[in-house]
Formats: sequence, C-alpha cells, structure tokens
Amino acid sequence: MAGTECLFCRIARREVKAEIVGETDGLVAFKDINPQAPTHVLLIPTEHLPRLADATEAHTPVLGRLLQFANRLARQYGLEAGYRVVLNNGAQAGQTVFHLHLHLLGGRPMTWPPG
Ligand code: AMP
Ligand code: ZN
Repeated sequence: MAGTECLFCRIARREVKAEIVGETDGLVAFKDINPQAPTHVLLIPTEHLPRLADATEAHTPVLGRLLQFANRLARQYGLEAGYRVVLNNGAQAGQTVFHLHLHLLGGRPMTWPPG
C-alpha cells in the first residue's frame, strides 16, 4: 500500500484523527485506539516503511531514534517500573497495519512469553 492510502501516514499528516502524544524530527507518537495496557502508545516514522524487514542500512538512524523516542515517552508516562516495546513484523507475527510502528506498553505487570 502506498503512503497516500496508508492509515498511519494519514495520521502523521493529520488527515485521520488520533491522540498524538509526542512528535520529534520525522517521528510521531499517538495513543493506540485499542489499548492493551494503561499506557499503550504507537511510535512511527513519518516515512512510509511497511515492515522492519523492508528497512535498509539507510534506515539505521531512524530505527535507533525510534527506540530513544520510546525511552523518552516511557519517562514521560512514569514507567520506571518497566515497560515493553513490541514490533510485529508480518501477518504471522500479528502485524495488521503495514507501516512500521513500535508499541510502547506499560502500567501493568507483563507476562512472558507473549501470545
Ligand atoms: P499491529 O497489530 O502491530 O500492526 O498494530 C496495529 C495497532 O494499531 C493495533 O494495536 C491497533 O489497535 C492500532 N490502531 C489501528 N487503527 C488505529 C487508529 N486509527 N488509531 C490508533 N491506533 C490504531
Ligand atoms: Zn504509511
């Protein structure tokens, strides 16, 4: 799917309403519409990249910055006790929106392994 049609591209462009909670150079964070924990935020690059598996060497900086962005948001949400960062790559892993995103989950105890 091209970026023009992609749901998360449209959220980044403010064409689709979402609760945006953070933004930094080329990255946007917004609340998940179906939260699985008291804090459940999605972090995306504004550039359309369907899956982690599509990333090239050129994406290394943006991937690193996404993790640091997760760190910053976790501090903002007071998740000192712990938080989980999830990246589903591909349908079998549970990816439903094909624009790369990190899930930042926290505010409750987590179990392992995930489902
Ligand atoms: P994934 O299954 O890893 O692709 O995650 C996609 C996530 O996007 C799910 O947790 C959905 O609840 C969430 N989601 C889908 N549509 C929206 C939307 N319009 N605004 C915010 N979150 C959404
Ligand atoms: Zn997109």
